[in-house]
Amino acid sequence: MTRAAARARTGARLRIEGRVQGVGFRPFVYREAARRGLAGWVRNTSSAVEIALAGDAAAIDDFVTALWADAPALARVERVERTAWETDGVTAFTVESSASESGRQLVPPDAPICALCAREVLDPGNRRYHYPFITCTDCGPRFSVIEAMPYDRSRTSMRVFTMCPECRDEYEDPVQRRFHSETNSCPACGPKLWLAGDGGRAMESDPARAIAAAAALMLRGGIVAIRGLGGFHLACDATDEAAVQRLRARKHRDAKPLAVMVADVHAAVRLALIDACALTWDHPERPVLVAPRREPSILAPGISPGLDSVGVMLAYTPLHLLLLEACGRPLVMTSGNRSDEPIATGNAEAVRRLAGIADLFLLHDREIVARYDDSVVRRRGTSSVLLRRARGLAPEPLPLPLATPKPILAVGAHLKNTLTLATGERAWVSQHIGDLEDLAGVEAFRAVLERYRSLFGIEPRVVARDVHPGYVSSQLAADLGLRPILVQHHHAHIAAVMAEHGMTDPVIGLAFDGTGYGDDGNIWGAEVLLADLTWFRRAGHVRYAALPGGDLAARRPWRCALGYAALTPELADSFAPAFLDIDPVELGIATTQTARRLNAPLASSMGRLFDAAAALLGVRQVSSYEGQAAMELESLAGSAAAEPFPFPVERDAAGLWIMDPVPLLAMLGEGRRAGADRAGLAAAFHESVAQAALEVSRRVREEHGIRTAVLGGGSFQNLRLLDRLTALLAADGFTVLAARRLPPNDGAISYGQAAVAAALLAREG
Ligand code: ZN
Ligand code: ZN
Ligand code: FE
Repeated sequence: MTRAAARARTGARLRIEGRVQGVGFRPFVYREAARRGLAGWVRNTSSAVEIALAGDAAAIDDFVTALWADAPALARVERVERTAWETDGVTAFTVESSASESGRQLVPPDAPICALCAREVLDPGNRRYHYPFITCTDCGPRFSVIEAMPYDRSRTSMRVFTMCPECRDEYEDPVQRRFHSETNSCPACGPKLWLAGDGGRAMESDPARAIAAAAALMLRGGIVAIRGLGGFHLACDATDEAAVQRLRARKHRDAKPLAVMVADVHAAVRLALIDACALTWDHPERPVLVAPRREPSILAPGISPGLDSVGVMLAYTPLHLLLLEACGRPLVMTSGNRSDEPIATGNAEAVRRLAGIADLFLLHDREIVARYDDSVVRRRGTSSVLLRRARGLAPEPLPLPLATPKPILAVGAHLKNTLTLATGERAWVSQHIGDLEDLAGVEAFRAVLERYRSLFGIEPRVVARDVHPGYVSSQLAADLGLRPILVQHHHAHIAAVMAEHGMTDPVIGLAFDGTGYGDDGNIWGAEVLLADLTWFRRAGHVRYAALPGGDLAARRPWRCALGYAALTPELADSFAPAFLDIDPVELGIATTQTARRLNAPLASSMGRLFDAAAALLGVRQVSSYEGQAAMELESLAGSAAAEPFPFPVERDAAGLWIMDPVPLLAMLGEGRRAGADRAGLAAAFHESVAQAALEVSRRVREEHGIRTAVLGGGSFQNLRLLDRLTALLAADGFTVLAARRLPPNDGAISYGQAAVAAALLAREG
């Protein structure tokens, strides 16, 4: 006592911002304070965590260091504000209830089951043995159950479950890892799992028997709909080709690859060429990791037809883990929907929408507040690219390099859409919403908008949208009656990548994708831009070619080849391989369309150029989803090095650099006719595109002295192209920026629009 009294006693108030709620932060604070003999309290507010401390000055300093250094795994401390505190004679440390205040708090994403919970759920001696809703402060649902902030059980869909005395004891015991775990529950007091059949008729209400019955059905080739974290999955035995084909037929999903879920890292590395580090350290949120398939494979060939890759995901909820344990083999785990609709989230909704697809339903009564798909990452060796940002990643905000003086809503584009709400220097990019093709997609968009508005308390005053007048998103934006800011699609792609890297200086933007509405009324999609956040100018593009049939061409790669063939009739023979097996009547009509420019818009699309090459190399002439031919072409090319074919870059009368792919495509056709190795030709095609993009970047650099190249657009989901072009540009002295925290595809458009709008508004002052 005498020594303690001799020390300097003082008080401090701390305000901690970042991702500090729902991540075991208050228990952590309690333990750290107790360990240092500090008195005071901790509480959540709607925008931060507040701490009051009384005690030894050195101990308080040490405590602040620990906040940064030792914070829980899921936490992210962004700012610690320290002020003096008149200690009011406190002698103990307590966890206070939440205080409401206005402000914005980071809502944590859902977290996969932690190692300790995974051990407990498989331990017959544990009271949560085989309990499918086990969680702790390190893991479990967050975003998908949180209705409002601050994060307390009363503002989550867990509020209907009252903790039993044992759970309550854990919740109140500071040394337990379930201290203040808002999702704490057990078999006695928590959510229930049951098995249902046709029409939702309950069949088995004992959770263990329900899981066993679902597993048994899958082992016999059946399909089960499973209510997961952010929506339903459809599952079946991933080694059973007949089951996989049945699922495809019922779901109306012909060829798009299906994700596979496994119980652990050991099982994952047996299916895919991927290292344990990628599965754990690099991607702790457990997305679907699309990696080269390990051969020979026990997986059914119908999982990813035509591709050399497979999408593997580690079980991330206790329910998934128990199912996999019961089945003892990998399971297909694909979104619970029919073709491209939003995934189902409610029990009744799923039973209705998935009737005729699923044989049985594993349902539970923990309501899903937010629809939340699985995130998807492509991985090859040590390089990776995000394809879909959702579970585990959203709603983490991204920074805006120029703060916006007014709150902005950015509505994105059309396919693979997201929306962004931005205020100050932060942008909340929504989870993947999906296509705005039908009413269900539009409703999903509206639901996400409402949720983000209320959760983050942002009332937009400006709406940023695409220049395309026909987009549903443009219409949705107009309906809001807010001041519009129009952002060109490819400018948004480049701005998105610039913004995530904090770049505001002018750059050379290489925006390669399928389609976007161009300023000249043509379809753009292989664009070289000079741009900063407020402004862009087209500096070059891939030579225009007609797209006979317009949108239809995206599913008919041979039509893309026809557009290029029509540019140079004397090379008709070289292009002939693209039209083998095409119905002569359809070919005739498309030829007429091209010649007369009837429903044959001009396009400079990189996606369609890949399609044309795929058709020429006999990869496919008809696609069942956009990008299929390009993905298969990348698979065919593999990773072997190749010499480029000619892909000349020349200046046109208007001063634009035009990349002319006709000689390249003709050489592919001639190579095919001569019986050359198709893989080698596909590799040469990739190399040629990368070299042409390097060449045009050099020309623009010479002219404008800009040395930063920014890569954006869906074509950079192609890792071979992304890696090779990045290497070529870097070796030539460019600084290269590519998408990291967002996908390069249209999922990043809303963020790019927000960054442009913010920069324009900031300039207005
Ligand atoms: Zn846990
Ligand atoms: Zn309990
Ligand atoms: Fe795009």
